[in-house]
Amino acid sequence: MIWPQRSLITHRELAGPGALEPHLWAKLQFLSEPLCARCGAAFEIAVEPGQVCAACIADPPAYERARAALVYGDVSRELVLGLKYQGRRDGLTLLGGWMAGAGKELLAEAELIVPVPLHYFRLVRRGFNQSGWLAAALAKSSGVRLSVDALKRVRATPIQGGLSATGRRRNVQGAFRVRGMAKRLVKGKRVLLVDDVLTTGATAEACTVALKRAGARCVDVITLARVAGPRSIAI
Ligand SMILES: [Zn+2]
Repeated sequence: MIWPQRSLITHRELAGPGALEPHLWAKLQFLSEPLCARCGAAFEIAVEPGQVCAACIADPPAYERARAALVYGDVSRELVLGLKYQGRRDGLTLLGGWMAGAGKELLAEAELIVPVPLHYFRLVRRGFNQSGWLAAALAKSSGVRLSVDALKRVRATPIQGGLSATGRRRNVQGAFRVRGMAKRLVKGKRVLLVDDVLTTGATAEACTVALKRAGARCVDVITLARVAGPRSIAI
């Protein structure tokens, strides 16, 4: 594994191996079992394997399983912002490795990797899709086929921050489609959807619905980070 020479957050040169200064590293929270078998939310107490959280029982997601490497917090937020707004690529192998570790069962069964797309205008303005980069890193390390543009955002949606869980769901409903030319690729496949952060799960849900409408057999989700609590909590 190639370690970045500069801190992924402060951009300062690091004295030793590692991606972050030790005090920032110590604040990163890696998600680990016990987790909800469906959405990957952390349980605070030990549970039977295969246990599903209350939110997933009350309102089962369209995707089969979601997993994330990190709890979305102060340090992981900086990592995501570095990817998204500064276009830092030097940490991709490392971040992709964390994601592959967190979702190794999902990755082992995946037949096609698809990132959550940006709307065309946002893609043009930013010049890249950070979820596409993460998806490419996962595809490269696993050998699973990648389709960076199987999904298309057909509606430009306002930035989700500040919206309630219901607001987010409404915001992205019907915002995604599988491109005509990708339908053959998606049909009958177990698709692994990749995004940077899972908050309420509304985006993952809307993408899953679009993939299933195009004939995907099943959809799993891997993100770099996710909110620690149940899906209904909006941040
Ligand atoms: Zn759950």
